[in-house]
Amino acid sequence: MTRQSFSTLNIPTALLTNLTDLGYTEMTEIQAEALPAVLAGKDVIAKAKTGSGKTATFGLGILAKLDVKYFRVQSLVLCPTRELADQVAAELRKLARNIHNIKILTLCGGVPLGPQIGSLEHGAHIIVGTPGRIIDHLDKGRLKLDDLTTLVLDEADRMLEMGFQADLDTIMSKAPSQRQTLLFSATYPAAIAKLSQRLLKDPVEVTIAHQH
Ligand code: ADP
Ligand code: MG
Repeated sequence: MTRQSFSTLNIPTALLTNLTDLGYTEMTEIQAEALPAVLAGKDVIAKAKTGSGKTATFGLGILAKLDVKYFRVQSLVLCPTRELADQVAAELRKLARNIHNIKILTLCGGVPLGPQIGSLEHGAHIIVGTPGRIIDHLDKGRLKLDDLTTLVLDEADRMLEMGFQADLDTIMSKAPSQRQTLLFSATYPAAIAKLSQRLLKDPVEVTIAHQH
């Protein structure tokens, strides 16, 4: 099957150039199916197996609309574990490596609070973190989501399995209602359908069937 090139998308030239440099010559299936809706600002539920390129799907959506001159938290990506948050942040930094002065910060549990508090005082454009620690920073007023335009739930199925449902609701209630919400999952149990009904608006659903 021939795949589309990223250049068919409405994304800034700097991002396209970097994708070429990274060797991302064509879109993966989930990227080809979901990116047009993501870039159009729609809420999206994307279901595709591990390794299918979901990070760049929301990453390019975040980066395409980010205003680097505006030094506020514009995007929040929630992940189930610190390891996954670190992987997501690494991929975002790769995708954003030629965007000058962009600040991507990880905020996860299991690491000391002190340095995170210091980093938050300096500010960030994009936060990647685990729900419990994000709530901690929100409750203490160190993190504000007033300027948030994109909220991502990555590996949403695993976050529910790990019992983060109430935390997700709490975080979403503190985010502006005028926002884009993107939900990524490898599986689609009933609990995910319920979660998305509560937290997403008229979502576009994209499912990539298992390839053999
Ligand atoms: P998922 O979140 O679906 O499990 P990832 O976003 O972690 O998948 O992507 C898996 C790997 O594929 C990563 O190493 C990423 O750098 C790479 N990748 C993603 N999109 C592309 C692409 N369009 N072309 C080449 N490699 C890609
Ligand atoms: Mg992933």
